[in-house]
This record gives sequence, C-alpha cells and structure tokens, in this order.
Amino acid sequence: MLKDLIRCPSVTPRNAGVLDVVEAFLVPLGFACTRLVFEGDSSYPVDNLFAIRGTSGRHLLFGGHTDVVPPGNEQHWSHPPFAADEAEGFIWGRGAVDMKSGVACFCAAVAEAVKSGEADKGAISLVITNDEEADAINGTAKVLKWAAEQGHRFDFSIVGEPSSAEVLGDSMKIGRRGSISGKITVRGKQGHSAYPERAINPVPVLAALASNLSGTPLDEGSGEFGASNLEVTSIDVGNGASNVIAAEGTLMFNIRFNDKWDPHSIRQWIENRIGEVDSHGTDIAWEQIAAVARSFVSPVSEDIETLRDAVRAVTGISPEMATFGGTSDARFIAEYCPVVECGLVGTTMHQVDERVETEQLQQLTKIYTQFLRNFF
Ligand SMILES: [Zn+2]
Repeated sequence: MLKDLIRCPSVTPRNAGVLDVVEAFLVPLGFACTRLVFEGDSSYPVDNLFAIRGTSGRHLLFGGHTDVVPPGNEQHWSHPPFAADEAEGFIWGRGAVDMKSGVACFCAAVAEAVKSGEADKGAISLVITNDEEADAINGTAKVLKWAAEQGHRFDFSIVGEPSSAEVLGDSMKIGRRGSISGKITVRGKQGHSAYPERAINPVPVLAALASNLSGTPLDEGSGEFGASNLEVTSIDVGNGASNVIAAEGTLMFNIRFNDKWDPHSIRQWIENRIGEVDSHGTDIAWEQIAAVARSFVSPVSEDIETLRDAVRAVTGISPEMATFGGTSDARFIAEYCPVVECGLVGTTMHQVDERVETEQLQQLTKIYTQFLRNFF
C-alpha cells in the first residue's frame, strides 16, 4: 500500500489519485468513505477523505495527510522520488516518512483489527487530508468541523506524523507549541544623511524594536513545555545608498509559544512590546502574517498510557512525552478530543532520498495493532 501511495505524485494540493488508494483499501474492510472537497477562504480547493466504521462503543480517530512537499531536483535522488523502489532494506520516495507510511501502517493495523474482530468492539474513523504541507486551510480543520456537524464524537486520536527522534518509539508528541508570525513596518521620512534634521530615520527604531522584542522573555516555560521564544527573522530597509536615510523599513518575527498563551494574549504581548519603544517621530504599524497556530497539550490519560504500553511492547523503549518541533494538523484535532502524534523517525523527511526502513513499517504497524487491541 505504501508503494501505491508513493507512486501518486501528490504534491500539495494535487491529489493524483492518492485518496483513491486509501479508499480502495478501506471500503472492503467495511468503512463508509466520504470525499470532501473544501475550498475558499483565500486558498485553493482540497480533496479530503473521511472514513468511518462502527457506530457504537469507544471511537478512535486516526489523522493523517497524503500530500507531500515537492521533490526538488529529481536528478539528486538515488531512486526516483515517485517510483517507490525497494532497495537496501528501505522503501524510497517522497512521503516515505512524512507521512504516507503512517497512513499505510494505520490502515494495515485496522485490517488486522477487522480480521480479528477487535474492530467490531467500537468505532474507527480516519481523517485524511491532502493539504497539511501547505496552507492547511481547506483540510483537517474543515473535515473535523463537518464531522462534528454530522454528530461524530471521538474519544481519542492518533496522528501518524513522524514523532520519534532517534529510534522508533523514543518519543511521542502529546502537544505542540503555538506559532504566530508578524511584520512591523516603520515609516519615517527619507532624506540626506548629512541633513538628518530634515529626515526621520526608521532604522534605529527598527533596531530598538528588534532588541525589545527578542530581549524580553515571554515566560520561563510551563509544565510540559519549554520557554516560549521569539525570533526576529528579518530586518529590511531595501536601501543601497549609504548617504540616504531610508523612508521606511520592515521587521519580521516568529514566536513559538507554549500553553500559557492564546491567540489573544500573545497578540497583546506583541503590542505591549512595540508600544514600549520610542517611535522618534516614525509611524509604527504591525500586521499578523497568516493565522495563529494554537498551542495544545493532551493531558496524560489511560489512552496515552495504552499507546505508551504498545510502543514499549513492540520496541522495548518507553517513549518520552514530547512537545517540541513545529506545528501539525494535530492542533485542529485537539479542539475535539485528546490527540497524540505517534509515528516514525523523521530524519529524512522533506529531504532528497527520503526513505523508510521496511522493518520500521512492520514495527509501526504492530504498535498501532497492539493499541487497537487494548483501546477497545
Ligand atoms: Zn507530515
């Protein structure tokens, strides 16, 4: 199944038949599949899949994506990125790790659970989007909203993103930091550097902003998270002449924040820091770039312990409960039920020669199978 998935060049948001592969696998197992194309909100249309089996008992949701990032220069790959070659103990190709493997392993585990009868003890759903790697506007968030409107309630969710650090099973993600990006524009007045009294220089103000933003700690961390952090990522004046005072400049920043903050309070913090800086006659304005990704953390529960036990039983390792790394679609699922990311080692994701050890595929399938057995 993984090979079939990799052979669909489903670079976001191109579906390239990839969801048909998943659907064709799930329908014979008794899943009702609904294809949901969402569009609008200033983004491109995206094809998504909602699959459900069972109507009573505990309800497990699996979350994943079948879209992949572009392969880059295909000449640089040892094996073509969409050929799914099996060689040297690996399956090679774009999405082999992030995260067509997660989808394939979960489907294989579900097939096991259907065969053994375990799946009949409860309900299993899958939300598979083809827009995780780019905007994530017409994907998981909208599918979940739709599912809630249909009356579906989930008890627990696993997202199959690569979550392990060094070896399979060494870490699971029970939360993620939030993220917000912003751009500050400082408008002054252009002029000759020999006549500064006739100009208003935005550059020292930009420097003061950079210093105040990155020099003020946001917090000292919280229970599950390290300290929130702001990075100034660019200061731009676009001025090539050393004897001209530029009219305006911009500064960009990104904050990764923990669960002490929400979109409102983090915006307030930004505004306060900007307000502390002397404008020296310039006009300072800031705007947010893209949406805020909320921070979330799933409280340690019996289900998380069950998953931890499954990882331990298969790999012999007790996974660390981690919250580091970037954002993922788990943040959308967190609004509906507890969610954990549990999957492969992510070393080669988004890289040339992305590949997965076939043995790891078997192991991850076993972890999911074991979990399904105990979850119900
Ligand atoms: Zn991913």
